[in-house]
Amino acid sequence: MDKNTQTEAQQKKKALFFQPTNGYDRLAEGEEALIQAYCQGYKTFLDEGKTERECVSYAIRLAEAAGFRPLVRGEKLQPGDKVYRNNRGKSLMLAVIGRKALGEGAVIGAAHIDSPRLDLKQNPLYEDKEMAYLKTHYYGGIKKYQWTTIPLALHGVVILRDGTSVTVRIGEDPGDPQFTVGDLLPHLAGDQAKKTMGDIVSAEQLNVFIGSRPYSKEEGSDRVKLGILSLLQEKYGMVEEDFLSAELMAVPAAKAVDIGLDRSVIGAYGQDDRVCAYACLHALLELEDAPEKTAVCVLADKEEIGSEGVSGMQSAAFDTFMSDLCDSQDVPLKACYEKAFCLSADVSAAYDPNFAEAYEVRNSAFLNYGVCISKYTGARGKSGASDASAELVGKVRRVFAENQVVWQLAELGKTDQGGGGTVACYMANRNIDTIDAGVPVLSMHAPFETTAKLDCYMTYKAMKALYIDG
Ligand code: MN
Ligand code: MN
Repeated sequence: MDKNTQTEAQQKKKALFFQPTNGYDRLAEGEEALIQAYCQGYKTFLDEGKTERECVSYAIRLAEAAGFRPLVRGEKLQPGDKVYRNNRGKSLMLAVIGRKALGEGAVIGAAHIDSPRLDLKQNPLYEDKEMAYLKTHYYGGIKKYQWTTIPLALHGVVILRDGTSVTVRIGEDPGDPQFTVGDLLPHLAGDQAKKTMGDIVSAEQLNVFIGSRPYSKEEGSDRVKLGILSLLQEKYGMVEEDFLSAELMAVPAAKAVDIGLDRSVIGAYGQDDRVCAYACLHALLELEDAPEKTAVCVLADKEEIGSEGVSGMQSAAFDTFMSDLCDSQDVPLKACYEKAFCLSADVSAAYDPNFAEAYEVRNSAFLNYGVCISKYTGARGKSGASDASAELVGKVRRVFAENQVVWQLAELGKTDQGGGGTVACYMANRNIDTIDAGVPVLSMHAPFETTAKLDCYMTYKAMKALYIDG
């Protein structure tokens, strides 16, 4: 081969091959500073919202500061109006009314704000060998052994006998006590070492240590438990029976931090899917003028356990919100849905070179390669997937390219290795064109997940571009 043919082949390669490059090579001038600034706000969001309830309260504070107000049923809405609806303190829907009528559709960003954790059982407190513990029932898909020997915080609400709601948040402020689940010392782990992953630590061993000091020198049983209950009564006015009407959860106590000497990555609990929730929320709150189509942001609960229940994405709460918006313009909800577009904003698995065998490298998401579109999710032959159309991928690809969004396309790991689901199918079932996209995460569902700052920022940029041009 002479020199000229080689050059021609090289040119042809450049023109024909799909060769994604690192996002840092594709950033616009000055964008690195924007990434850092955005991620500061994101880390605060993570620390303020470790449960769906806390995310809703914090998001409402941000939204009200940006001019949003509660939607009133029956009111007439004008382009540029900013409204929200708080669904029972656990999920939140927000909208900026567009210049076009809702019959022309809406652009919806849907993310979830619940994350895997250890929920306390309804009768949790017990004493064993003069140590007090709380029984838990894990929430979402976890590797149980990962939740031992880490500092935990206790969050949630207790509804007292008289109906008073008490908010609990212990282990987050400096000087607060924290909690932990124990594991067996390696010296005595002979039998444990032979077990398979799901049984190394069993669900009924995920008991949270809460104390060991006896209440008094007086003889008697359950003196440690009495000591704990008396502290709870002092602080929250609660008695043991009040646990029955409580929603308490143990979550990792660690705060969001920068990871890596170059600070390129964020490490924190609950980034699935608060990373996309914050991206959708922030993009919506930044809309200053009325967008062409009404922009909607949904922060849903219960995704990790199937999107069921009144605060999950399958709930009619979303349809009620959307139909209240449509009624204000005398538009039928079904007309809005059939022209609407939804970005199901949820995380994907980032390729992990330490576990390369679980990934299919040609269709994996990589750190720093930008927001990751997933045409489909699901498992075993796409089961449970919404599978967006080629037309929809084409549309999103075009909007991203026009707005200098760094993006990639991938699926979650090797076929038949496992899989995952999102809220996409529940939106698509409503006759809304839906596609999955979000941030690639390392160690997903672990107590400490990692994401690349560039990808976090690009997911926000992607959502904003869709709100404006979608
Ligand atoms: Mn998720
Ligand atoms: Mn998840």
